[in-house]
Amino acid sequence: MSQRVLVLPGDHIGPEVVEQARRVLEKVAQDFRLALELDEGLIGGAALEASGVPLPDQTLEQARQADAILLGAVGGPEWDGVERELRPERGLLKIRSELALFGNLRPAILYPQLADASSLRAEVVAGLDILIVRELTGGIYFGEPRGIRTLENGEREGYNTYVYSESEIERIGRLAFESARKRNGRLCSVDKSNVLEVTVLWREVMERLAADYPDVELSHMYVDNAAMQLVRAPKQFDVVVTGNMFGDILSDAAAMLTGSIGMLPSASLDVNSRGMYEPCHGSAPDISGQDVANPLATILSVAMMLRYSLAAPAAADAIELAVSRVLDRGLRTPDICTDKDEKVGTRAMGDAVMEALATRELEESA
Ligand code: NAD
Repeated sequence: MSQRVLVLPGDHIGPEVVEQARRVLEKVAQDFRLALELDEGLIGGAALEASGVPLPDQTLEQARQADAILLGAVGGPEWDGVERELRPERGLLKIRSELALFGNLRPAILYPQLADASSLRAEVVAGLDILIVRELTGGIYFGEPRGIRTLENGEREGYNTYVYSESEIERIGRLAFESARKRNGRLCSVDKSNVLEVTVLWREVMERLAADYPDVELSHMYVDNAAMQLVRAPKQFDVVVTGNMFGDILSDAAAMLTGSIGMLPSASLDVNSRGMYEPCHGSAPDISGQDVANPLATILSVAMMLRYSLAAPAAADAIELAVSRVLDRGLRTPDICTDKDEKVGTRAMGDAVMEALATRELEESA
């Protein structure tokens, strides 16, 4: 039976980078004999223009039928004036919550070829390969009660609730342990259990789960120390698991260690490993329509999709190897280009990845 992939290009550079990623997906599907059915839908500003809402019911229905979703990016200044509920980004938040995509996987990988792009010294980051597993649908961003109230003395007070149930912690914990198992077998759980009771429970649950994963080495770190260690010696980490807010902050810091947002993919998974895959960057209206956007983050998101939702790890490996080979050739889009490199555009970068995939095939058949 074939697996269904929904493609949601979105706005500005979204369609440009998705076009290249789609070519790559179709190529590996053919090469690895994967039965995939691709469908396309509207989200964000594009959907707003066509149907008046950023996430039409039809797109949501298509998403529910899909095994995996490939998303470009949404948003742009032309929709800055529309009311909050209709903003393109609301479409994204809604699809994540409607599909219960609780587990956000954000790798921070620094290809050795790009070590100069980081703001840290090359030897500190060259070869960096961290996976941050962030809880995405709970914690303080969603906890109730929340609001701003006026006290008896007339002063206003803002409040939020930091809450995690045991089952929510277990769900993200298992995803993290499973992910560590597929990598180097080390998992660091980040909390603030010296201050916050929620994370005392978090730590307890992680400890309990560890018994089910004897092949994974579990450690714990307070979030303030984790932030420090990330910029001091980031290569000490393999997989990091943490709650929504800490993960939001740490994953952005880790992304910046690599210095190249155009290279970073992400996945958001539900309990059945159905997922939405997207580059970490936004729709970059400042460079759209110029054929300069880096498509590699989206192409690498396809690799994650093949690995986590479509059970095709060999195809995922082939894409990652192809990207590495293209970088070896010195081909760079402007965002990662130095004087020594050959500057190419979005389409030419897509062509180069396709060529590298074809070369692999030739090598294997030789
Ligand atoms: P952005 O990520 O779009 O751009 C930040 C900077 O990085 C820009 O200078 C841009 O040119 C550059 N950049 C981003 N992706 C690139 C790529 N693939 N290749 C080369 N350079 C790249 O963030 P922003 O400017 O803050 O936001 C722009 C729009 O995107 C806003 O409307 C925002 O709401 C939206 N946004 C969407 C998502 C999403 O769809 N997941 C995420 C973040 C922001």
